[in-house]
Amino acid sequence: VDAAGSERTASAIHMQGLHKRFGASTVALDGVDLTIEAGEFFTLLGPSGCGKTTLLRILAGLEDADQGRLTIGERDVTEVAPHHRSVNTVFQSYALFPHLSVRDNLAFGLKMRGVDRAEREARVERIAEFIQLGDLIDRRIDQLSGGQRQRIALARALVCEPDVLLLDEPLSALDAGLRSQLQVELLRVQKRLGMTFVFVTHDQDEAMVMSDRIAVLNGGTIQQVGPPREVYERPVNAFVARFMGHANLYPISARQGQRVTTELGELELEPDLDTPQQGGGELLLIRPETLDVRLGRHQGVNHLAGRITERLYRGSHAEFRLAVGDTTLQATINNRGRRLPEVGDEVTLVVAPEDLVTVAN
Ligand code: ATP
Repeated sequence: VDAAGSERTASAIHMQGLHKRFGASTVALDGVDLTIEAGEFFTLLGPSGCGKTTLLRILAGLEDADQGRLTIGERDVTEVAPHHRSVNTVFQSYALFPHLSVRDNLAFGLKMRGVDRAEREARVERIAEFIQLGDLIDRRIDQLSGGQRQRIALARALVCEPDVLLLDEPLSALDAGLRSQLQVELLRVQKRLGMTFVFVTHDQDEAMVMSDRIAVLNGGTIQQVGPPREVYERPVNAFVARFMGHANLYPISARQGQRVTTELGELELEPDLDTPQQGGGELLLIRPETLDVRLGRHQGVNHLAGRITERLYRGSHAEFRLAVGDTTLQATINNRGRRLPEVGDEVTLVVAPEDLVTVAN
């Protein structure tokens, strides 16, 4: 049966009040509630030690939560052993059989599941092509490089076509070129097979490229869940704002209607944008790429007078540090053949009201 034609059962994942401690003092998960939809590419994103791997290991059944409930596809699996869950895992440390060939490693899981020989061989060939290791299929694992082994580990999990695939930084050992190529391929396979992917990474760029939705974790709690653009453009707090990219953040000292006062001066917010963040935030967020940097001095709404203090040329764009009064700011601009401001230049920064967001501290 062609994988594309196969029917997938709903495999939504529900987590309710998951807590996990290690020893007396380490709280790895501090009450996680999360729903992952069937067929979603879902990413757990956060800094080292935030609990991503622990959460993934609980999903896989390799670790038990101290408290809470977990269901996968309507079934409560809180007490169900790993091999009885319709879940497969790719971990950073690839547990391959070193003395067996790539082919035998890939076929192993299918054999265990009773897939017949012809079907097994066809699926193994197809997946080896996908990860571009078709020519290495008869090599032994101990004759492969680290990056090649990583791709085999990925292929071995994909070949079984589980309802849910858990991936713990599966691309981290690859060089940049191969990594971005496999990001695209992996997405394509996930969409084609309709599998649910739960992907762990600490790399926000990778998370934004790959995910339908992202959960940002910090200190064992979920800070925000949403599609990449929402998490980047409308972060709920300063941690999420900073973790997703460079964030100019300023405490709001006064607010009247749509006008806020910060150390940059008075700025106007969009009138009818009624997200909760706009109402309740204590900090003003300005992303560097939302600033328009104009040479010279100009007057108008949300115009700030600044001076360039640092310029980093990066080919496709340039990054600037600026002084505005006593404070500093970062701006990014595309290089479109125009004259780039230089250090010492007097400039005007213009920011559109709809690009301003307020966030909680
Ligand atoms: P990384 O990106 O570094 O892998 P992570 O977000 O995946 O980090 P976890 O591995 O889930 O984080 O760890 C969360 C916390 O629990 C950390 O403080 C970690 O030191 C601790 N921890 C994880 N596993 C164990 C263990 N087996 N014994 C004791 N402490 C543990």
